Amino acid sequence: MSDCIFCKIIQKEIPSTIVYEDDDMLAFKDIHPAAPVHLLLIPKKHIASLQELSEQDAGLIGKMMLAVPKIAAQNGLQGGFKTHINTGKNGGQEVFHLHIHIMGKPA
Ligand code: 5GP
Ligand code: ZN
Repeated sequence: MSDCIFCKIIQKEIPSTIVYEDDDMLAFKDIHPAAPVHLLLIPKKHIASLQELSEQDAGLIGKMMLAVPKIAAQNGLQGGFKTHINTGKNGGQEVFHLHIHIMGKPA
């Protein structure tokens, strides 16, 4: 999606501090951290929100959930972390490219 800020981050058209990347997903630091460690994990495929996730994306979202604790641990959150997914306008979503917030305080 040409007008999507997170697609632009994936394409490296907008700078970000990337902490993890593979063929399917990207994790980077939130520009306005709400915790000492605040990361966003996004699929490289443009999916607007959980409401647009389809059966075809089951493998992708599974891989992302499995990556969450690994990315968290690599960023000092071995002791635990919070995850957060805002969905839709009424769910407080501001950027319409699916993202998992990973937040915590290093032990
Ligand atoms: P939402 O409210 O949609 O769940 O969260 C969007 C998040 O994206 C916010 O926490 C916001 O700080 C972050 N964000 C918005 N624009 C940018 C950006 O250009 N770069 C980075 N790194 N984070 C962004
Ligand atoms: Zn996008």
